[in-house]
Amino acid sequence: MISPHDLFIDGQWRPGADGRRFAVHDPADGSELAKFAAATEADCLTAVDAAADALAGWSATPPRQRSEILRDCFDILTAEREQLAAIIVAENGKAYADALGEAAYAAEFFRWFAEEAVRIGGDFRLSPSGDKTIVVRRDPIGVSVLITPWNFPAAMATRKIAPALAAGCSVVLKPATQTPLTAAYIVEVLRRAGVPAGVVNLVTPVPTGPAVSAMLHHPAVRKLSFTGSTEVGRLLLREAADQVVSSSMELGGNAPFVVLPGADLDAAVEGAMVAKMRNGGCACTAANRFYVHDSLVEEFTTRITVAMKGLTMGPGADRSNDVGALVSPEERDKVSRLVEQAVAEGATVALGGEPPAIGAFYPPTVLTDVRHGSEINRTEIFGPVTAIVSFSAVDDAVAMANDTIYGLIAYLYGDPGQALAVAQRIDAGMVAVNRGVLSDPAAPFGGTKQSGLGREGSSEGILEFLEEKYIGIEV
Ligand code: NAD
Repeated sequence: MISPHDLFIDGQWRPGADGRRFAVHDPADGSELAKFAAATEADCLTAVDAAADALAGWSATPPRQRSEILRDCFDILTAEREQLAAIIVAENGKAYADALGEAAYAAEFFRWFAEEAVRIGGDFRLSPSGDKTIVVRRDPIGVSVLITPWNFPAAMATRKIAPALAAGCSVVLKPATQTPLTAAYIVEVLRRAGVPAGVVNLVTPVPTGPAVSAMLHHPAVRKLSFTGSTEVGRLLLREAADQVVSSSMELGGNAPFVVLPGADLDAAVEGAMVAKMRNGGCACTAANRFYVHDSLVEEFTTRITVAMKGLTMGPGADRSNDVGALVSPEERDKVSRLVEQAVAEGATVALGGEPPAIGAFYPPTVLTDVRHGSEINRTEIFGPVTAIVSFSAVDDAVAMANDTIYGLIAYLYGDPGQALAVAQRIDAGMVAVNRGVLSDPAAPFGGTKQSGLGREGSSEGILEFLEEKYIGIEV
């Protein structure tokens, strides 16, 4: 199935009200893939109206029925994961294996939340005086605006849509402008699985800001679930404040990867390659700052340089390539600028650092002698660049790991006992001990500090779309 190129409002694929379209490009060669419908502000508000009209019916639909629809979405996406992966590769540029992994991960959220849909609990409590019963129900929070980034265009959408629908909410999805085709494919899967008209809507406003602001000021909207940069998240929190719209935020990261003294270097390098190179380094969870004990730093650098050198870079559509393109020439230029600045600040290029002339590619790159606190160390790189800093005292490594406005994830390699003790001192929502990846539909995903508010996935994920109601009964 080819992905639709239109907006999806009230159960219908349709162009924008003024007929405008914007181009979606393949970042591997810059070619145009599609002209996608641009939503007007009025289209976005119509989508919210449709979600508001559908809310009562969907929230009253028996949980078992909602669950079965979500389960059908899992089955369809699983059966069609290769088609979905091809669309992800085409508009995002990532390597095919990354895209196929994402398609499977995206499908998993439908399976997980199909199961959660029938387990929405509440509780009964006794007041301290012992003579009153307190009933606590969990009701759907209401119409939800879901905003997603381009780096995992499928999984970030399903990680929001699945819990929202399981909870009984209706939604308006606004995907990243670079990757609307993946979102449209997923919405079409939901339609085919029998989601009623108005329960899921898709809008792609250009420009984005004013239309999103209008949606957040629509009186029916009660939830904003955003995944993207901290900068845009802050802006949207201010917009959401006007109507006190409940907001979940999955924002940027700046993950430290700490190799403790005595760590098994084979395991550390293997884990580093996953933590760094999954999705070509374009992950909020990507290892960004490598702090390596000075007894191991030389050997670690040699081994990771060899491993990075062994990766083949090229169009994701060629399944033999390990590293695809970044999403756009602008993203490639951002990575280039960061590397140039790191060198100006004293870092040494041990590998890579020279982007090819054609396509939005950036090669696997290793930087040594990076200074803690330099620009590349403070900024999310979002590309295949390994920046290595050495340390001599574990306390210093902990201090440097925590010295960031972000708190999404940290990776620790070393003796499990020591690593566990260090994990407790790390200020982050997630800590991976001797593991290079933590993503799992059963785990609460999210960050501390400016990495966000709330959790996605797991039994916590559905709570973001439910609101507690206390009913006191005199009996
Ligand atoms: P972004 O913030 O530029 O865009 C995210 C979304 O917000 C897109 O849909 C975009 O169109 C929209 N947007 C942009 N400007 C807006 C505005 N003024 N008003 C309303 N909406 C606006 O982020 P990105 O470049 O697409 O994605 C990369 C970022 O996402 C990175 O910082 C990454 O760490 C973060 N991210 C976080 C997680 C997580 O779970 N914590 C997961 C994936 C990505």
